Amino acid sequence: MTIKEYIKARKEEIKSEVLKMERKPSLVIVQINEDEASKAYVKGKLKDAAELGINARLVKLPLETTEKELMKVISKLNKDKKVDGFIVQMPLPKQINEENVKLAVAPEKDVDGFHPLSALNPCTPQGIMNYLHHEGVEFLGKNAVVIGRSNIVGKPMAKLLLKESCNVTVLHSKTSKEDMKRYLKNADIVVVAVGRKHLITKEFEFKPSAILVDVGINRDEEGLHGDIEPGMKVALQTPVPGGVGLLTRLALMENLLKINSTK
Ligand code: NAD
Repeated sequence: MTIKEYIKARKEEIKSEVLKMERKPSLVIVQINEDEASKAYVKGKLKDAAELGINARLVKLPLETTEKELMKVISKLNKDKKVDGFIVQMPLPKQINEENVKLAVAPEKDVDGFHPLSALNPCTPQGIMNYLHHEGVEFLGKNAVVIGRSNIVGKPMAKLLLKESCNVTVLHSKTSKEDMKRYLKNADIVVVAVGRKHLITKEFEFKPSAILVDVGINRDEEGLHGDIEPGMKVALQTPVPGGVGLLTRLALMENLLKINSTK
């Protein structure tokens, strides 16, 4: 099933799940930026929520909001019984420390899965795993390579693959091209989360059975591009756009429902 088909089918399931609920799940998005990419993400999240029957609202704060002021908003949302989950859209203005913010969100409302004590996983790796599971991908004993070691994608992705008993290798900015080629040649599952347009080109060799997951979003005058050149000769390559971004959005709604079901 393509990602688009999978999203459509999952959305139908979620919609009927929500329809059966006495009280609709509620989500709040806090935004403190004028970032174009963020605006698009927020718009997408609100659209998904509306489509699924989830109550979502946006709290937009001015760019000059201080960390203390944001903490007050977070504290209120943490206590608000009508709010099941909320997210603080990144990036934040320079005067606010992102790590402090991630730790301030109550773990039981942390729909983004960023808090170390959150029972949920960050949406991008979780969304990817859900899709790969749905596609019947085998994990046990497979060679998985994750390129990128960020706290929101690379590291949690490696953790989830390890949990499925993959042999996980994490590559990063200090990995030489020769080593990268060597690891990729033997990889069964590859997740690239770097943020460099077509970092992985056809110059790299892959097994024909390899699965390539492209997390990268790189914008230029021609549009959106992934970290992997399109058209690799492998079993599965996720497209950009219309790939991991959609899986991430879906996982956010799934995380919200998980919070709701544990109440
Ligand atoms: P980040 O900047 O926090 O991390 C990038 C990682 O790439 C770092 O760990 C770094 O070590 C590694 N890296 C940098 N240059 C490299 C190189 N030349 N070779 C190998 N590794 C290199 O980024 P992030 O937040 O993890 O996001 C990565 C990309 O994924 C970005 O394009 C971002 O926009 C995108 N993203 C997409 C989604 C989605 O839903 N599709 C979600 C999150 C992030």
